[in-house]
Amino acid sequence: MMVLLAIGFLLLHAVLILVLPGHAMAASYAFLIAAPFLASCVAARRGLIAGISPARGWSPVALSLLLWTLGMVSSLRLDLLGNTNEVPGESMLLYILYGVPISYVAATVGLDSGSYVQRGVDAVLAISLGYLYFALMFSWTTLQGASSPQSAQMIATMFDVENGFLAVTTTVRFFAADTLKQRHLFAALASFTCLYALSAAYYNHHVALDVAPDIGSVYDLLIDIPFLVFAVVAWRMPSRITRVPNPPIGLVRFVRSGSPLLLALSVLTIALLLLRPRFDLGVAGVIVAVLGYGLRSILSQVKQSEAEDRLRNDQTMLAELAMRDSLTSIPNRRAFEEAFEREWRLALRTQQAMSLLLIDIDLFKQYNDRYGHLAGDACLRDVAVVLHEAVQRPSDLLARYGGEEFVLILPGTPLSGAREVASRLCKRVRQLNVSHDDSPIRRVTVSVGVASMVPAEGATREELIAAADGALYEAKRRGRNRAEHAAINPP
Ligand code: GH3
Ligand code: MG
Ligand code: MG
Repeated sequence: MMVLLAIGFLLLHAVLILVLPGHAMAASYAFLIAAPFLASCVAARRGLIAGISPARGWSPVALSLLLWTLGMVSSLRLDLLGNTNEVPGESMLLYILYGVPISYVAATVGLDSGSYVQRGVDAVLAISLGYLYFALMFSWTTLQGASSPQSAQMIATMFDVENGFLAVTTTVRFFAADTLKQRHLFAALASFTCLYALSAAYYNHHVALDVAPDIGSVYDLLIDIPFLVFAVVAWRMPSRITRVPNPPIGLVRFVRSGSPLLLALSVLTIALLLLRPRFDLGVAGVIVAVLGYGLRSILSQVKQSEAEDRLRNDQTMLAELAMRDSLTSIPNRRAFEEAFEREWRLALRTQQAMSLLLIDIDLFKQYNDRYGHLAGDACLRDVAVVLHEAVQRPSDLLARYGGEEFVLILPGTPLSGAREVASRLCKRVRQLNVSHDDSPIRRVTVSVGVASMVPAEGATREELIAAADGALYEAKRRGRNRAEHAAINPP
């Protein structure tokens, strides 16, 4: 529908100019004001219906287009007053300012949202940019208009620079857009800025200064086109613009790290150009650019180091989680393997005795069968807590070895000490008083296999585990609810 409207708009504009040559100027003004105004309304409507974050993009664009519309209104007013200047200052100002909200959108939308300080700095930079641009233009012209044909040419070139800059930045943003909403916004914006840059360059250099200085020629249709195209693209629902292709990651990174600097660099460029004609303003611009750049870098660095901290915390948490048994929250088999290897090497070096305890819940299969698996899990957790509390030294490590078996490493502990600990563990579990009707004493109990060793050259950790396992088997064989030991060499 919008496409038909746009075509109708252009046809009507052309027909009126050709059919009513006497009123061509008035007719053309009406269309040149209507086109950007229509585009501005479409952008404002998008801003209203698009939701909070993309509204940040559409609303400034609506403002831009409105500024341009006002520029045209101002040209009309000056023409009505009998102005003969090709470059009237008042409307120039509005045509310049229109670029500011678009630069702001290109530098901020979809990037680093969240920090109000950051957005504030961007806004200040965008406003400074507009002001300096305006000051630069008015170093060649006055509010009454351009003072010479050379300055008119110069101003046309400055417009080319501004329009080219907007076209390039919004096009890059379009290709780097990774969400549907951003892609829609920048599709509309980039098609507008590119067409506008082309038609404005042709119009400013060729038409306005040469072929048809006055409004009211068919060349005016050139100015309608970018606005109408914008309206058509912006009007279409984002869902009609199919799937977002994955933007090249290099481009995305470039935009992410480059955009924050875009505004500051633009301010710096204009400020440097201003140093000759307006030294004071030029210096002020350089200061604003440097401060803005510095603040922006500090803010993104703060953000980055926050992200790094978060990542480090997550990594630590993940590493910890990877070492814990999810059911009982005590260290898991992997943690045991690591600790065992470490303690083994230490014992080998210091030639101290170390002990290993394998703890197995008695008749646990029957427990599960009688009370259910969930009760079995709860029982496992209770036993883990009790065992954990019964282990005293910080260097001791209790872990879930698998199923209903636990393992305890006692570094620097000879057999006598390990046997004491083993009896204590059996006693504490008995005292837990968890009923188990299939058990001879009608309570949950554990059997413990103890092995101790002073590691000698050539001895292996597996020997120690095998010895503890053998002792555990012996404890089961002798009636459960007890600890047995195996001595490998006199510890
Ligand atoms: P024994 O006195 O000889 O050790 O007899 P047992 O029944 O305890 O020995 P067995 O190794 O045959 O059975 C261990 C049972 O432990 C098998 C399994 O159902 C149960 N089990 C292992 N892991 C879990 C678990 O995570 N949760 C629950 N609820 N049960 C488990
Ligand atoms: Mg068992
Ligand atoms: Mg078992």
